[in-house]
Order: sequence, then structure tokens, then C-alpha cells
Amino acid sequence: MTFPTTSTQVSTSFPDITSPWHSFSAEESLDKFQSDPEQGLTQEQINQRQQYFGPNELKDTGGRSPLTILWEQFTNIMLVMLMAVAVISGILDLRQGTFPKDAVAISAIVILNGLLGYLQESKAEKALAALKNLSSPKVRVIRQGIVQEISAKELVPGDIMLLEAGVQLAADGRLLEAQNLQIRESALTGEAETVNKQADMILGEDASLGDRLNLVFQATEVVQGRGKVLVTKTAMETEIGHIAAMIQGVETEDTPLQQRMSQLGNVLVSSSLALVVLVVIVGVLRSGWQHFEALLEVSLSMAVAVVPEGLPAVVTVTLAIGTQRMVRRHALIRKLPAVETLGSVTTICSDKTGTLTQNKMVVQKVQTDSYCYDVTGEGYIPKGDIIAQDSDEYEISGSIKQLLTACILCNDALLQKKDDNWEILGDPTEGALLTLAGKGGLYREDFVLEMPRVAEIPFSSDRKRMSVIVKIGEVEDVNLHAYEMFTKGSPEIVLERCTALQEGEGYIPLNDAQRKRILAQNDQWAAQGLRVLGFAYNSMAEIPDEALEENAETGLIWLGLVGMLDAPRKEVKGAVLLCRQAGIRPIMITGDHQLTAKAIATDLGIAQANDTILTGRDLQQMTPAELEQIVGSVSVYARVSPEHKLRIVQALQNRGEFVAMTGDGVNDAPALKQADIGIAMGITGTDVSKEASDAILLDDNFATIVAATEEGRVVYDNIRRFIKYILGSNIGEVLVIAAAPLIGLGGVPLSPLQILWMNLVTDGLPALALAMEPAEPNVMQRPPYSPRESIFSRGLGLYMVRIGIIFAILTIILMIFAYDYVKTPGLTGDPERWKTMVFTTLCLAQMGHALAVRSDSQLTIELNPFSNPYVLAAVSFTTLLQFLLIYVPPLQVFFGTHPLSLNELLICLGFSALMFVWIELEKLVHRWFLSKK
Ligand code: ATP
Repeated sequence: MTFPTTSTQVSTSFPDITSPWHSFSAEESLDKFQSDPEQGLTQEQINQRQQYFGPNELKDTGGRSPLTILWEQFTNIMLVMLMAVAVISGILDLRQGTFPKDAVAISAIVILNGLLGYLQESKAEKALAALKNLSSPKVRVIRQGIVQEISAKELVPGDIMLLEAGVQLAADGRLLEAQNLQIRESALTGEAETVNKQADMILGEDASLGDRLNLVFQATEVVQGRGKVLVTKTAMETEIGHIAAMIQGVETEDTPLQQRMSQLGNVLVSSSLALVVLVVIVGVLRSGWQHFEALLEVSLSMAVAVVPEGLPAVVTVTLAIGTQRMVRRHALIRKLPAVETLGSVTTICSDKTGTLTQNKMVVQKVQTDSYCYDVTGEGYIPKGDIIAQDSDEYEISGSIKQLLTACILCNDALLQKKDDNWEILGDPTEGALLTLAGKGGLYREDFVLEMPRVAEIPFSSDRKRMSVIVKIGEVEDVNLHAYEMFTKGSPEIVLERCTALQEGEGYIPLNDAQRKRILAQNDQWAAQGLRVLGFAYNSMAEIPDEALEENAETGLIWLGLVGMLDAPRKEVKGAVLLCRQAGIRPIMITGDHQLTAKAIATDLGIAQANDTILTGRDLQQMTPAELEQIVGSVSVYARVSPEHKLRIVQALQNRGEFVAMTGDGVNDAPALKQADIGIAMGITGTDVSKEASDAILLDDNFATIVAATEEGRVVYDNIRRFIKYILGSNIGEVLVIAAAPLIGLGGVPLSPLQILWMNLVTDGLPALALAMEPAEPNVMQRPPYSPRESIFSRGLGLYMVRIGIIFAILTIILMIFAYDYVKTPGLTGDPERWKTMVFTTLCLAQMGHALAVRSDSQLTIELNPFSNPYVLAAVSFTTLLQFLLIYVPPLQVFFGTHPLSLNELLICLGFSALMFVWIELEKLVHRWFLSKK
């Protein structure tokens, strides 16, 4: 629908946008902005203003500043402890007159680690911000006479913006029109009550922000009604821009796992400090002060060994990789905790329309008083026939014409031809009705001028209907009425408000038999999976008072039923099956008719043919306890309102379920917030629902939730995998260091520097590679794990301790052997090189561990080595680095290593291979036990 563009005079002088627009009339404001309420701005004006005012963006002040991120790196408790170790070992070295190599190296590593952490975190922060931009809101505007959707960023002062329920405002503006416009301004004023906005008032300049009823503000939410706004302020000039700090920036909250990890860090640091104190005290008590420095050396090494320095970085990277993987599968994570908790979902509550179905509505059937019609044609192309069943008569007149008129007038969507395609702007249900009218030869253009809309009661999922009042001309005859109201909505609800039935050009009283017949037809179509809408109208002498609007929808004249098909999405059936295998229960919660819901739910496998369907009305009569009793067995809820969704989530949660819930409307926000994972729709979702959610489905598709759940499980599995890997080795190191003096070998086998090398490099790189591990084959064939379980549950804690001990036993045996072996007569080399053998064995054993830990159940030879090539690469690269450390002279000096002979190297290799063999044997034994059960 296009209008000729009027040549508005273009001027490059711009108004002072900071003027008190609430004290100006709508006309004055339009005049100042040289804008037109019907045409909007011209392209030339838009270009000039975009250049002058810049993009409509708030400078992000919510994220952490680079300096804060950097500072936080160095206040990390593990790094603080390392710095303390550096200082003490530096003092020790200086006293002995040696170069403080360890201190310098540790400081370098602390700085490097801090910088790496900084780079990683600022990158993660930027990536999150970029992801958030992906879901940046769209705004409906009139530009050059055309209604269009543009990105909020492109708004300029003078634009004409259209508002409807669910929109979050993207700029400040002066209202030009407002129909029952209720706005929640809590983001700005903190006031939870909605404000009733009015267009035709002029206020004093000193009116406070909360009293400016003729203005709307960025970041506030339209809860109800519609409006037309002249954009007056954009970007940092808006009220919210002035208090930009109030706007939350990128979500950077730690995930539960990250919190537990930092707690673990605290525990490890304090226990290592306790260890230092203990070793020193016991040592001093036993042998006096003369060995104090040697004792200090041992305890410093132990302190460094106990802390998994590389772990926090690996956790952050894994979560970041998780969000990337999910976005590739069309799920956008808004809050980081969702990445790891998605895998724990036990119940997915999903909307029907658009998520389980395609949301591409095509009207198939129409019924009026006298005829039932079949409708042909495809998609939104208004080409096809409306053919009366059992009759050759094909004429659009009488009740069918009035019904099609209602389809057009009681409608907020737009049907437009773009290039050769027909597209709709707005609700697909309403789009399908415009297409139907088009097939009957009726278009909106034929009505807008003759029958302008003067009032409306908008659609909401609670009311399940909408009405508009149009003016049908100046009426001189006092017996005729000047206004007509058209209502459409859920057939039962609309029919309840009817007292007459349209028959041809006139109407007759509606009797019970006719009501029954209409409802039976409704049920019959609904049982075929059709979405059915009822239509009615009424004439009125004057526009009802706003407060009486609800009463206006009574005494209506019934026009007929329209049944439209919204086919299920093809991929959903498979996704539902996958859910079941994964121990996740899919539940459908819809505002649609129970029979439509049932037909689609059984088709998709969500419900069985004789399952109970609970309706909103049933739910209304239940106490929370009764609902809790039944939620475990009901999989389809029909004709529910958004408030019921909240009750369903709570009841499920009370039964211990971990619930993911989808939502799109403004009223879904409480349920989305209450759910463990709130999921908004990327395409049809309102800004308000997106703001309240943890994740957004970029394609609105149920199958995407299941895919994201699978990714969540993979992330969690991988985190557990590398925690096992890293902490097991830490325990081993500590035991080896403690054992050396106990068995009477002189000196500490590992220097703090070597330990740091192991913890950060030889453990860190393979751990990062383990984070890339693909899904295990059974990842969606097992029940979900509780999100509240400890990270050490299901044997992980025991594994760490067991492997740590095995590590230690193998290395200690090697240490005792090597201590004597290096002194074998005839062998050359430094007698201290037994320490290098210990160091090398520990490193190489971790390489075998990395290969073996890839799977709990499958032997390494059963795994495809290239299914995670990163592990192979990390292991090869790290082994190479370790050899460099032993054989390149400057590195030898720096790391305090000594070259090993081939035999010695083979001995290390042999001992370290035993670690790998042990883990593989464990798997075999485990398998054997399982087969015996
Ligand atoms: P879901 O909750 O699964 O997305 P839904 O889209 O059918 O399902 P609602 O949008 O709450 O749920 O709609 C509930 C009922 O309201 C529909 O079954 C229909 O009868 C009626 N309805 C839907 N859209 C409109 C509309 N634009 N105007 C009037 N009535 C409508």
C-alpha cells in the first residue's frame, strides 16, 4: 500500500531537540520537525538527519571498563598467592647470592596470565555485546508514506513511529495518537503501575517526568493499546540516555559453575597456605631452624602445585565456545549461566503457534449462516477461490461480504506486494484474513477512507478477542447508526456476546440450536487441527466511553467462522522424539482451542489420543496443590492465559522439575523470569519478552531448544572432563613433592617454575582441546543431570583423588628408581637429572591422561582420533615443548632442567604410559561390572 510522496520542503536547519515537547501541541511539534503524520520523513530528510544526529544508540556504560577488567585479573586470589611465592623465593635466592630466576619467571607468568585473562575477558565481553546486537529491536515507522520495519538504530528525530502492545520504545517522542495506550515506565521512573498516555493534551513546561502523559520515553514498555509517535529525541539525548548508567549493559554475571570455581580457588589457596604453615612448623619442630629455608622451598612448591592456575581461563573459554556453538544452531544466549544449565532441563514448556507450527496461516474454511465454503490458494497470495459447498452459487454478498469486511477492518496487519512476492507485516493470523478477503475481491484500500477506525479494544492473549469501531459516514436518519463495531476472536468467547445471527443482508435472533450448530462446527474444525476464529459486528450511535468498552462487546450480530491451517514444523516431530529419549518432557501451552491443540499435539507426539487436556478454565478452579498433583501427567494446556503459564511453571518447579519455558507476549514476561530458562522468540517475540529471557530462539523453532539443550549438555560434560584432567594432576604433583623429603631424597624434585609450566602449559593446552570435544554418542540418550549437583558428584571427586594417587605412586616409584639410576657408574650427566626425569614423567603422563580422558566408557582405540583433532595437536605440541625444555640449553638454564639420555627418556615414557594403561584398564573393568549387572 503506497501513497504518493508529497514534496515536503527540506531544510537543513534542525530543531532544538531538547525543547520541552510536552508543552507543545502535536501539530506544533510536527511543524518544528517538518514531519507529516501520514507520510513521515522523506529519504533526503532521513539521510541528512542520520548524518547530523548519528545512529540511535546508547553508549554502553553498563559493561566493565577495560581498566576494571585488567585490575580484576590481578586481584584474583590465585595470582596474589603466586606473587607472594615470587617475592619469598626471590628473597631466598638473593640471600643465597643466586639470580632470582624463579621470582622473575613467576612474575612474568603472573603478568602474562593476567594479560591473557584480560584479553580473553574483554573479547568475551565484546562477543556478548555483539550477540546482544543480533537481537536489536525493530521499530515500525512511516517513512515516505510507507509503513516499514527498520532497525531501532536507524531512527531519527522527526520519524513517525507506530506503537502496539509488547513494544519496547527505542526513542523518546511526542504522542500524535493514542488508543487505550498503557505504558510501563518502571525502567525510567521505578514506578511499576502502568501509565495511561494521552495524545491531545498540552502540559506546563514544569510538568515532572512522570506527569508528561503526552510523551513516551525510550526503554519503557507498551503494555496495551496502540499509538502513533513523533520521535523527538534519540540516542544519548533521550531521558534514559541522560541516566545511561541505569541501563544495564552486557550481562557479565558469573555462571553457577564459575562461582563454584572461584570458591574452589579460595579453598585451594587457603589449604595450600595451611600446608605451607604445617610443613614449616613440623619441619622446624623436628630439626630446628637450620633447615628453615629448605622447608620453605618445599612448601612454596607445594603451594604452587595445589592451585590449578589454568582452570579459570579454560572454564571461561569453554562457556564462550558454548555460546558460539549455540548461536550456530540459532539459539542466542543472553545470560551466560544458561549455557551450562540448559543441559539440565527436564521439561520444556512450549507455545504452539510459531514454535511447534510454522505460523504460516492459510484459511481453508469459512462458515456463515447459510453456507460452508472451501478456500483454495496458497500462502499469502490473495489469489484463489472461496467456493460454497453444496451450491454453485458463488457471489460475495450478504453475510460472507460482511464477514470479509470484518476480516479487513478488524485487523492490524498489512498485506503488501514486494517485487513479485506477497508479504505480511504483522500477525500471521491477521495476514491470512487479509489474504482471504483479497480472494473475495476486497482490499483494505477500499475501506480506509470510507470507514476510518475511530476506536479499538486491542487483542490480548487474556481477552482472546479484539474489536474496532469504524465510522460509516455522516448519518442524517436518526434511526440509523453512524458507527459499526467489528469483533473477532476465539469463537466461544465471541459467540457468548452475540444475540443475533446475520442472514443475508439482515439478521435474526440467535437461538440455542444455532449456537450449538456453530460450536459443533468449531469443534469439528478444531479437531482437524485448524485454528478457528469467530466474527461478529454491531451498529452503534456513538463511540462508547472508554471505561465502558468491555460492555460494548455485547448484543453482537454473529457473522461466521473462519478456519485456518497452521501446519506443524517438519523438524519438530524428530525433536520431540529426541526429547523423550533424553528424559525431557515436552509440554504444549497454547491460547488456542483444546481440540486444535490436541490434534497438533498428537500429531507431533507430545500427547497420546486419550490424554487429558487441561484448559485455562479448569486451571482457574484448581488450588496450587491440586495443580501440582496433576502437572506431572498433563502435556497439553489449551485456552490458557499468560498468568496460567506462571502457575504451571511454579507447579512444575515445586515438583522438582527444571523448566524451560517459551514466550512471546508482553504478559509472558513473569513466566519467562520464573522459569529456570526463559526462552523468547526472536522473530515474533516482543521486546519485553526478550528482555525477560535467558535465551532467544533466532528462528522461533522448538527444534532449536532441543539442539541448544544438547549443546548445554556437551558444555557441561566437557567442563567435567577437563576438571577431572587438571585437578587429578595437581593432586599427583603435591604428593610427589611431599614424598621426596619424606623418603629421604635430597631436595625438592620440582621447582615452582616447573610446576607453573605444568599447570599452565602442559595441563592448560590439552584442557583447552578437551573443551572442544564433540557430543558423546549417548548425550541425548540419558536423563538430564540435576543443575544443583556438585561438580564433584557422580564419581568425579573420587576419580580425581584416585588418579592423583596413581599419578603419585607411579612418579614416586620412578623417582626412587631414577635417583639411583642416574648415579650408575659409566653414565654421564648431572646427578641432579633425576629431577628432570620426575618432571618429564609427570608431563608425559598427563599427555596419556588427556588422550584417555576423552571418553568415560570408550577405549581410546575405539575413538576416532580426528573427531577432536585439537587433543591430538595439543598433545603433540606440548610433548614437543617439553623436549625443547630438556634439550635447548637456554631453556635448560631457565627452567633448571638437565638433558636426558635416550634410555632415560624411554624410562620416563614407559612410566608415564602406565598412567594411560591404568585409565584404559579402569574402563574395561567398569565395562565388565556393567555386563555382570
Ligand atoms: P500460542 O500460545 O501457542 O502461541 P495462540 O497464538 O493460539 O497460541 P493466542 O495468541 O493467545 O494463542 O490466541 C488465543 C486465541 O485468541 C486464538 O485461539 C484465537 O482464537 C484468538 N486470536 C488469536 N489471534 C487473534 C487476533 N489477532 N485477533 C483476535 N483473536 C485472535
